Amino acid sequence: MRFARRIESLPPYLFAQLDKKLTAKRDSGADVISLAVGDPDLPTPRHIVEALQEAAEDPTTHQYPSYYGLPAFRVAVADFYRRRFGVTLDPDTEVLALIGSKEGLAHLAFAVLDDGTEALVPDPGYPVYATATMLAGGRPVPFPLDAAGGFLPDLDSIHPSPDATMMWLSYPNNPTAAVADGAFFDRAVAFASRHDLLLCHDAAYSEITFDGYVAPSILSTEGGMGVAIELGSLSKTYNMTGWRIGYAVGNRDAIRALGTLKTNLDSGIFNAVQRAGVAALTGPQDHVEEMRAVYQKRRDTVVSSLQEIGMPVEPPLGSIYVWAPVPDGRTSEQFAAELLEEAAVVVSPGTGYGKQGEGFVRISLTVADDRLQEAMDRIRERLG
Ligand SMILES: *Cc1c(COP(=O)(O)O)cnc(C)c1O
Repeated sequence: MRFARRIESLPPYLFAQLDKKLTAKRDSGADVISLAVGDPDLPTPRHIVEALQEAAEDPTTHQYPSYYGLPAFRVAVADFYRRRFGVTLDPDTEVLALIGSKEGLAHLAFAVLDDGTEALVPDPGYPVYATATMLAGGRPVPFPLDAAGGFLPDLDSIHPSPDATMMWLSYPNNPTAAVADGAFFDRAVAFASRHDLLLCHDAAYSEITFDGYVAPSILSTEGGMGVAIELGSLSKTYNMTGWRIGYAVGNRDAIRALGTLKTNLDSGIFNAVQRAGVAALTGPQDHVEEMRAVYQKRRDTVVSSLQEIGMPVEPPLGSIYVWAPVPDGRTSEQFAAELLEEAAVVVSPGTGYGKQGEGFVRISLTVADDRLQEAMDRIRERLG
């Protein structure tokens, strides 16, 4: 049997080694706490579950959905953008439903990149940007994000080749938990226009912010609709990771290209799930406020514990992660292995997100408060 080069050429799974050690640790009877995955532990709000139940009872939802998404879902997304960001979107041409935003991110690469073209990808970054670029035949060209620059790229030092056709960005950021302000988005939009790039902004964490910080949309920036597509997700905002629903909004040529590709690959999202998505976007939002408070408290648990053992971390303003520097003399992987061995706590080594992730580990806030406290107590006792 032979398989495609594009599969063989993917980089090895960086957490494979750690996974083996994790399994061995669990098999030895240890009570392992994993702070490695970013999957909300809280349930989907009740009214959204009920909307699905009701919609599933309606046989008209049992047929093929429309390719571009239920009109009601696209209108709900457009209304959300008007309310939340003051951005006006045409639901017919500037909004597309996605089977989760990861699906849209990956397929966008196929809609934009040809063999021999390049995509600028953040390092460290969510791995899908680089792997989807490679699968689509493009070449990922990493740009560094570092602590000194607040994990925002120094755009003046990036010189895209004529083969570059797109750039990926995401704020609030996974894995660094950094946020961007409107002024940065202004510069990013100007940069993309100057170099004729499609700017893809992954806004998966736009609603998960702390201390009163409110994340902007790249489409609020003047000229944003001309060069940018923004991908959003109901996964993190409404604890709906298992439901697979998100959306792409923004530049209509990019939306059309992605939509055209998708009509040839998938047949949309179960209409009942889309109706539940409408309930999520248009229903009461108090749960979102409560969820922010839950993550903010967990963030404080992690940050104060790390500060107590002398690790210099600032409380991040968004996302569901803390990006923590590794103590001197260890690599990210060594430190992650040490935490597993000494404290039975799993964190993600920063190098899983790119070379520039060296020197950091990512700690996820998606475990119950008492387990998170337990994990941090162990880290403090064993490594303090
Ligand atoms: C979780 C996550 C997503 C994907 O979310 P889905 O909508 O569930 O596919 C996209 N981007 C980033 C950075 C994420 O962390």
